Formats: sequence, C-alpha cells, structure tokens
Amino acid sequence: MEKFLYCDNAATTKIGDEVFEAMLPYLKDAYGNPSSIYKLGRDSKKAIEIAREKTAKALNADPKEIIFTSGGTESDNWAIRSTAYRLREKGKTHIITTVFEHHAVLHTCEQLEKEGFSVTYVPVSNEGLVSVTDIENAITEETAIVSVMFANNEIGTIQPIKEIAAVCKEKKVIFHTDAVQALGNVPIDLKDLGVDLASFSGHKIHAPKGVGIIYIRKGVLLPNFIHGGGQERAKRAGTENVAGIVGFGVAIENIVKNIPEKIEKLTPIRNKLIDGILTLPHTRLNGSKNERLCGNVNVSIEGIEGESLLLMLDMKGIAASSGSACTSGSLDPSHVLLSLGLVHEVAHSSLRLSISEDFSEQDAEYVLSVIPEIVEKLRKMSPLWERLVSESK
Ligand SMILES: *Cc1c(COP(=O)(O)O)cnc(C)c1O
Repeated sequence: MEKFLYCDNAATTKIGDEVFEAMLPYLKDAYGNPSSIYKLGRDSKKAIEIAREKTAKALNADPKEIIFTSGGTESDNWAIRSTAYRLREKGKTHIITTVFEHHAVLHTCEQLEKEGFSVTYVPVSNEGLVSVTDIENAITEETAIVSVMFANNEIGTIQPIKEIAAVCKEKKVIFHTDAVQALGNVPIDLKDLGVDLASFSGHKIHAPKGVGIIYIRKGVLLPNFIHGGGQERAKRAGTENVAGIVGFGVAIENIVKNIPEKIEKLTPIRNKLIDGILTLPHTRLNGSKNERLCGNVNVSIEGIEGESLLLMLDMKGIAASSGSACTSGSLDPSHVLLSLGLVHEVAHSSLRLSISEDFSEQDAEYVLSVIPEIVEKLRKMSPLWERLVSESK
C-alpha cells in the first residue's frame, strides 16, 4: 500500500470504528423522528438521551446542561450572540475576546461590532498565551461576555481557563470558552472549571462532521438562537442529527478515557518532531513548548512557502497544514501567527502537524526523513532564501 500519514487532526479526524458502528443503525433502519410517539421514534429519542448522558459524564456536567448543535461554529455563534443581545438590554454592550481565536468567534465579534457592540481583542504573548491580568483589566461595567479559547487550533497553546473563569465570576461577567481543540487532549471537568458556556465539536474527536454541543451551565440564561420546533427541550430547534449525536456520545466517551496515556505517548513523539525540524537552520517553534497540546507541532521554516511545502509533503504521503484549513486558499497569513509577532514572510513559511493517538515514533522518523530534502529543494529555488542567507552573512 502507498504510504499515507495523516497529520492534520486539528482540521478534522477520522471517524472511529466504534463510532461508525454505533451510528450505522440510525442511518438506515432506526430512522424514526425522535419527536414521534411510536416505538421507532422513541428509539431515536432514547439514543439521543443516552448520548447526552455519556457526554455529560465525560465532561462532569449535568445532562440538562448539554445541548446538541451542528458543531463548534454554531455553538460559538450562539454563546456570544445570544449573551450579547440579552445583556444589551441591561446596557452591557462590551465584549472581550482575544486576537487569536478561531474565526467562528472572531467573525461573530466583528459582526456584533457592526451592530453597535464594542469589542476588546486582548493580545497574546509571543509564546501564544493569554494573560489572566490582561483579561481582568479589560473588564468594565459594560462588559457582557468574555470569550477565550481553551486551546488554540493552530499553535496548540493551552490557556489558563480556570483562572479566567474565576476572574469573570468575581466580576459577574459571563465567560465562554471555545474548547473544541482541548477536548480529548486536556482533562475537562466543567464543574471544577467554572465556565458558564463552552463549545465542543464532534469531528475533532473522531465523531462525524456536523455535530457538536454547547454546554450551558445551570442558571445561565441563553436565549434561543435557532428557532423552530421544540427539540432539545425547546432550546435548539431542528430535527435532531440522530446518527451524528449517537456518534458524538461514543466518541466523547472513548476520547476522555485515555487522555493521560495519550499525553504520555504523544508528548515525546511531538517533541521529537519539533526538535528534529529545529535542527534545520532558520527555523522556529511557534507557541509555547510546555503549555501545548500533546499532538501539536507548529514551526516556521524560513525561506520557503508553506503551501509549496504542503504540496511536496502530500506527494510523499503526508497530509499536513499551514496556517488553518479555513484560511488556506487565501493569501493572507494566519492571524494566529501574526498575533505572536511574526512578520508576514515567517508566518507564510509555517507548517502545522497535528498528530493523533495512533501516530508512532516510526511515523515521526518518516516525517523527519522527508522534510529536510524538501526544504533544501524549496530553498534552492527560493529568492526569499537567497536574500535571507546573504543578509545573515
Ligand atoms: C474546528 C474548530 C471550530 C469549528 O468547529 P466546527 O464543528 O467545524 O464548526 C471552532 N473552534 C475551534 C478552536 C476549532 O478548532
């Protein structure tokens, strides 16, 4: 078989075998509408409630606090928009987020600015970390909501979410976290964490695309976002994605079981990849090495274009990413890398490898055997590299 190494798990993941098996009946024979009263319908309803219980247990939440959505993007939109609209009526028209959020958060905030809200985009350190004090200092009497991601999707840096939640609680400001990338990589105990709202996505944890959840802590008011029928206790309308929800339940149950083992296995492999790539001249690691997801590698390899590198890696059977999947296809460098203070050229020369639990040390050796020759080839053809070498003489 031809070599294929999937190193883009931050973009999406492969559906797990058990997840797939669990979903199959609901794609075919068990097709009942969960709102119908006959057995075929009730069976679908039951399957959803089992998935909700599994999800609640995996996150240490109450099943009533879990609402199924179409994914991370919808959950982010819902959390921020509905909170903003609700609190505008109390004169609170200020939102706080960070400069390096996912576009699901950033573009929502930009839209709200057009609607009259003011938004503070808190900067991050050159290591890609958010300071709790910076968040605290940004809070005013008008602040409605603070939204800070748990782990960054490009550089994998992990933020002090529990501390930020405590500050928001003290200041009586709603706190939302986009925890899409953290799920399955960092233990998440929602009761202990103290967040009000949190977003999660299925397809980043070996469930299918098009399903996710929003966590709404008991007592937190969140007006409805999608209007229609009475599904999800009348909080989120639309006939449920039964198969997707069943898949989500199995996937989250599985992924939270092995987090310590995953961290123990992947951290040295990740470090081997990082250290291996950094032996090449004019390379740098993007984002903190310690406060980092166990499967994330993000490096800049100066003198090359990220896109060319990706195409050549693809020819060697390696699927990777540069910047984020959502921005590839555009020529703008990643807003996340720019937020670390990287100049455009260096941001353009980035490579993200996001590995999953089945990635082995031998796989890392293969990647490291391929990258240097590709880099050499690309640098030979690159006017950027020529300039860089002559400047550093
Ligand atoms: C993937 C991702 C999203 C979007 O989730 P979808 O389910 O694809 O809508 C949001 N935030 C982060 C951090 C992500 O990585």
